[in-house]
Amino acid sequence: YAPLAEIDPEVQNIIDKETWRQFSGLELIASENLTSRATMEANGSILTNKYSEGLPAARYYGGNEYVDELEVLCQKRALQAFRLESSEWGVNVQPYSGSTANFAALTALLQPQDRLMGLGLPDGGHLTHGYYTAKKKMTASSIYFQSLPYGLEPATQLINYEALRSQAKIYKPRLIICGASAYPRDWDYKTLRAIADENGAYLMADIAHISGLVAAGEQANPFEYCDVVTTTTHKTLRGPRAGLIFFKRTGDNAKDLEKRINDAVFPACQGGPHNNTIAGIATALLQACQPTWKAYAQQVIANARTLGSELVSRGYKLQTSGTDNHLVLWDLRPLGLTGSKLEKLCDLVGITINKNAVSGDASAQVPGGIRLGTSALTSRDMLEADMKVVADFLHRAVQLALVLQKEAGSKLLKEFVRVATIQEEGKQGAKQV
Ligand code: PLP
Repeated sequence: YAPLAEIDPEVQNIIDKETWRQFSGLELIASENLTSRATMEANGSILTNKYSEGLPAARYYGGNEYVDELEVLCQKRALQAFRLESSEWGVNVQPYSGSTANFAALTALLQPQDRLMGLGLPDGGHLTHGYYTAKKKMTASSIYFQSLPYGLEPATQLINYEALRSQAKIYKPRLIICGASAYPRDWDYKTLRAIADENGAYLMADIAHISGLVAAGEQANPFEYCDVVTTTTHKTLRGPRAGLIFFKRTGDNAKDLEKRINDAVFPACQGGPHNNTIAGIATALLQACQPTWKAYAQQVIANARTLGSELVSRGYKLQTSGTDNHLVLWDLRPLGLTGSKLEKLCDLVGITINKNAVSGDASAQVPGGIRLGTSALTSRDMLEADMKVVADFLHRAVQLALVLQKEAGSKLLKEFVRVATIQEEGKQGAKQV
């Protein structure tokens, strides 16, 4: 029963350093957020000890009376958070992550080597939506299924729905996936449904990034038009790291969808559910059901818009010139700076961002931009005025990177990074002492 600090000071020390990093820095990674203390308590609970393969009231292990109660509660809250309690939707709350949720959904909807279409990775799509390169099929979604990416219209950098319609007419996918990791605008689910219907395809929305905003009614509602909706629980939704799969119980295609999805999660893709995580999801969903959640989501979007417009007012270029959601995609190519350089430099000054492909990049491996998200800073009660300060910090970081690059090429930047890293390690060492 001894505490962690006593049993394992090494791990405790790493946790302390990470706590300080998260507390003292500016967290601008669009896929991250800061969970509540209550959610973390549930996630770190004794529920981690329990095996419960199967579903509530149909388990392969004894002793699951409380775990059954928990999973049913979590399902109820998931449907409630997305205003689906009185509808024909059901949900599986067991996926370990967004990637596993997506692969389970593909397993349920498709036969091996069936065709799917998803937004291309360089255009903002996710690896699990069928991504492959000319050299390699490196994701399970492209190894076990055939896939064809759709993309953005170069002039507007918005989804090119008409090109998707023409591609789908020829390719005849069995599944169209919408949703993205880096797309700053909302989705036209009605048009996507029409394209899916023209080809007898399923429509699945992966709302991993925007689910907190969808729950608040601040983005278009995918449940009106899709057969299946997947999400992670740890991005705008502010939960622990996991996934959810919602499935429609009605319609021509959906008679056995519930069973296929549940069977695909377990036993096809996973073993026992992580009950501590399900407890954390339930608590996060309770928070997303409160009236205050709408104000949070609205503030996330207002902050992203302000951050975007502040960068534009300093002369920088954003993909689609702005945002409708929690993220902005900053195109660094006009500056002659790569995303990875700015990411490294920002790390040194306590601003956490990530390099990201921007529309027109030759390869997703050398991204020409940066993705910024406002979910975590909004969880720290930051407002539009704070975003102006953040934009100014970012501006100063870019100016520094440009000076370093101009004066002595990337060598000096490397040296700067090396020296600053030593300083940072020194600081950490000093803190420990
Ligand atoms: N789907 C989308 C759109 C994502 O952006 C991500 C992760 O960033 C995932 C799925 C995968 O989620 P996880 O990292 O939990 O597997």
